[in-house]
Amino acid sequence: MHRPGIPGTILATVVIAVAVPACQTDQVDDAVADTEMDAQHEEDDGDAGHEIHWSYEGDTGSAMWGSLDPSFAACDDGVRQSPVDITGAVAGGESELEIRWQPGDAEVVDNGHTIVVNVAEGSAISLEGREFALLQFHFHHPSEHTVEGSAAPIDIHFVHAAAEGDLAVIGVFLETGEADPTIQSIWEAIPSAGEPPGALAALDPRALLPEGGSHYRYPGSLTTPGCSEIVSWVVMTESVAVSQDQIDAFAALYPMNARPVQPLNGRTIERKD
Ligand SMILES: [Zn+2]
Repeated sequence: MHRPGIPGTILATVVIAVAVPACQTDQVDDAVADTEMDAQHEEDDGDAGHEIHWSYEGDTGSAMWGSLDPSFAACDDGVRQSPVDITGAVAGGESELEIRWQPGDAEVVDNGHTIVVNVAEGSAISLEGREFALLQFHFHHPSEHTVEGSAAPIDIHFVHAAAEGDLAVIGVFLETGEADPTIQSIWEAIPSAGEPPGALAALDPRALLPEGGSHYRYPGSLTTPGCSEIVSWVVMTESVAVSQDQIDAFAALYPMNARPVQPLNGRTIERKD
């Protein structure tokens, strides 16, 4: 994917995001190299790095992440980890979230941990006065965040980066209902093993936003190694419907790609309406 004209840190972020294969982290920039943006890509950045395999179950599963590599230490030692169970939210006053996404070309990648949709530049959010550019979104089955102990079948994470390198991720729960045409177009673009990324023209991410802007806010982390605590989390209170067939199609690829919920450790979850 070509992203001409993106200056400075954003460019570095994007280059790393598309160049770092799954299960591989570099020492380049912990804040971005090992993020959920580790989308596999046909381009090679020429830096072999060192490969650290991780998964969701077994010897390299989420309970083991912190011991797999020193760069994953926050997965064990962190104090503001994600996901969390959303409970006891307090009224947080007026929303300071402005979503300015727009349609654009996108590519669909299977990075071995999830399905990632890399979007064209131009979509952004403003969160509490700061700008974050939308880079990609991806899926977890079942949902990683839970509400009062209950998971949704799937959640989407929309990953945004600020120029300073920290992230804002918007989570949207997908619940069982009518089939969603945007999800269908994404599923149909998932490449087979060994195939190049699937192309999507004029994908509109706004079609995957629920009605209304109510959301939960809390400070947290990446939910994949190295679990860096650089994420401003926004979890939408309302969900988007997808069909059971669409859930089953994703589950056939990823039966379980959700990290368990982590302790709040005194953090406050705010609800913004
Ligand atoms: Zn995620």
